Amino acid sequence: MTDAAVPDDLLARIRRFHEHTFPGVQEQFQTLITEGQHPTILFIGCSDSRLVPYMLTGMGPGELFLVRNVGAFVPPYDGSAGFHGTSAAIEFAVLNLKVSRIIVCGHSHCGGIRALYEEVHPQAKNLSAWLELGREAVLPVQVTEEALRRTEQRAVVLQLERLMGYPMVRTQVEAGLMTLHGWHYVIEDGEIHVFDVNSGQFIPASVASHSGHGPYVEHLSEPMFNEIDSAYNTHSTP
Ligand SMILES: [Zn+2]
Repeated sequence: MTDAAVPDDLLARIRRFHEHTFPGVQEQFQTLITEGQHPTILFIGCSDSRLVPYMLTGMGPGELFLVRNVGAFVPPYDGSAGFHGTSAAIEFAVLNLKVSRIIVCGHSHCGGIRALYEEVHPQAKNLSAWLELGREAVLPVQVTEEALRRTEQRAVVLQLERLMGYPMVRTQVEAGLMTLHGWHYVIEDGEIHVFDVNSGQFIPASVASHSGHGPYVEHLSEPMFNEIDSAYNTHSTP
């Protein structure tokens, strides 16, 4: 039973949205219903409450097709029926919504990545299986904050590579119609570090010349590679 003396903060918050926030954006949502949603970005992010995709991209309703899970992991494409919410979202975003960008966004102090180095609760069978999607990123070193940051970044690249295993993603990327973006969000700095495939490094957005290259470029034909290369004005490989 709810104690009537305890104010229901959650109820107050959803009422506040309906009464005060929604009137200001009602027209925008009505348009998104009339014209449908046409997001151009699939954002695959960690479920961490400190990672706030709309805030850090400055985007709003209708602009991000969002899927989140522990670790921002991408399951392998195996073509068989299964209950993989993230895989279903990828297929829907690419085949139905025809997004042109896929962002995989990990972050600093990720509990999912840290869990790769720790014992998982014995009842967490699904979590335990899920974490295997990041296993290859684990480093054979003592767990330090530095090692965790590196593992978080390695995990992002691993997911980008796995994305290329989805035929509808690979086709679009190879045709030059889609780009993959690997991001590592550093919570304490409020800055995204973008993966640069040419240097193999994550570069702070403040000094980066593009918003993130996945390992897809190796799959592109040379002319397309050059085109994308110049379009993004990437760092040249030394
Ligand atoms: Zn996380």
